[in-house]
Amino acid sequence: MKQGDRPVVITGNWKMYKTIEQAVEFIKELIPAVKDTTARIYLGVPFTAIKSAADAAKGSNIVIGAQNVHNAAEGAFTGEIATVMLVEAGAQFVILGHSERRRLFHETNEMINKKMERAIQDNLQPTLCVGESAEERNQQQTEQVLATQLKECLAGFKSAQLKNLILAYEPVWAIGTGQTATPEIAQNISLYCRSWLEENIGKRVAQSTLIQYGGSVNPGNAKELLDQPDVDGLLVGGACLSVEAFSKIVNVI
Ligand code: PEP
Repeated sequence: MKQGDRPVVITGNWKMYKTIEQAVEFIKELIPAVKDTTARIYLGVPFTAIKSAADAAKGSNIVIGAQNVHNAAEGAFTGEIATVMLVEAGAQFVILGHSERRRLFHETNEMINKKMERAIQDNLQPTLCVGESAEERNQQQTEQVLATQLKECLAGFKSAQLKNLILAYEPVWAIGTGQTATPEIAQNISLYCRSWLEENIGKRVAQSTLIQYGGSVNPGNAKELLDQPDVDGLLVGGACLSVEAFSKIVNVI
């Protein structure tokens, strides 16, 4: 547990990897490898694998979620997916605003805000991703970029609606590059985000929000990142695709 009774949550983001069969096999292997941890383990899996993954994870400390959702309840949106469909399949959380969705699929803060609204309304716990690019960091714009992302993605929410919020600080320059943020950067920015939440949403949300760090996390750097007082968990991409690496990360706490 972190300050304010916040549990540690380690999320694996599988992205567009793993078939149903591979997903089930992975979870069966992961369960015994992480059975003694006090951390909560979340896996963001491809839509097709949600049902089977949730069935395979039943009774364990592994929570299954999705990596995206549409903001409408239902409708003529070819190729999209609704919250009720994800919940029915067994998803309990959803990753929103990942930098790959922002960059490759042109998601804006306004779109992410609407997805957040839908997810919260339909009881899908949101993991909201924020983070600056290398260029923005070099121009000392990190805090300004994060403030805008937070303001626009969280616009219109009352504090009670955000009680289960997970916020993932994922500097774009660290994702998939092997260039992990230092523990000091991860701590400073997490603290900045928590202070922003306190000033703009309220003290209770600032204390309850789980702030994760994401960007080239691996078994070698996970502990020093998690040792930071305001880093409540990790969002892991590449290193969550193997049971060995992911369970090592989970077991550092
Ligand atoms: C991610 O995609 O959210 C991520 C953090 O990826 P990686 O761990 O591979 O940098």
